[in-house]
Amino acid sequence: MTAALPFSGNPLDRASQQRGDDAWLEIQAATGLFLPFWQNRPFVMQERAGFLPWREAWRGRCNIFLGLDGEQALFAVDLPGEEEPQLGFGGFQEMRASAFVLPARDTAIAGQAKALLDWHKRHGFCPNCGAATQMRDGGYRRLCPACGAEHFPRTDPVVIMLPILGEECLVGRNLRFPPGLFSAFAGFVEPGESMEEAVRRELREEVDLQVGTVRYHATQPWPFPSSLMLGCYAQALTRDFTIDGDEIEAARWLTKDEARARLAHQIEDEMKLPATIAIAHHLIRDWVEG
Ligand SMILES: [Zn+2]
Repeated sequence: MTAALPFSGNPLDRASQQRGDDAWLEIQAATGLFLPFWQNRPFVMQERAGFLPWREAWRGRCNIFLGLDGEQALFAVDLPGEEEPQLGFGGFQEMRASAFVLPARDTAIAGQAKALLDWHKRHGFCPNCGAATQMRDGGYRRLCPACGAEHFPRTDPVVIMLPILGEECLVGRNLRFPPGLFSAFAGFVEPGESMEEAVRRELREEVDLQVGTVRYHATQPWPFPSSLMLGCYAQALTRDFTIDGDEIEAARWLTKDEARARLAHQIEDEMKLPATIAIAHHLIRDWVEG
């Protein structure tokens, strides 16, 4: 059974029926708590997401509605500047690093906030006519006052897949990976492509591997900047593969026994498998345990 994936399990009620009402949002903001972000990093206090009451100094900064935690409205606010803002006891932590520190629910909420704030920063102008757009619905929509076009926050589907052949799986090394890391293969789903077709294309391109059945396993929101990881297993039809040398610099088959030992850090060498933050870790582990 799949363990909870980091960035999933967000408990907030996103109040989609109410958040389009500016008066309602204003009432919520008056007693709301705000999670400050600086340079895409959430504010962390005592290993929790650092939600704070509104400060007048934040007026004019991009702030978005995250949802209701019971009766409590939660927001996020983006703080500017080159120097880290001092907000008292706590500090801004890189998002991936904070996922190892925060409780699962806080990681999911901070991930939601990061993906949204980041989208607003990069989508201030209408792709249809070039006019400046305005935020609506507490941050879940931007509206162009010039041409009326509506724009919605992006979520980009990415397939991530582990090829399986009998009792072995294939893992690869992307050129951009840290030294020693081998992981599942991944790539963006392209327009006009099903998830299964994207899995087959990516494996053909990266390792020239022929696969049969593609089986969906689990998804994970991945706010770097706005992906939804679609985790799959792909049944390999042959052991033969050829790395493209362009994106993938190495690949190798792993037996279940070796994968199990590596996940338990029982083999001391250069090779590493992905950390628990990544869905690739869970694809490998669930296959080993399954
Ligand atoms: Zn427009």
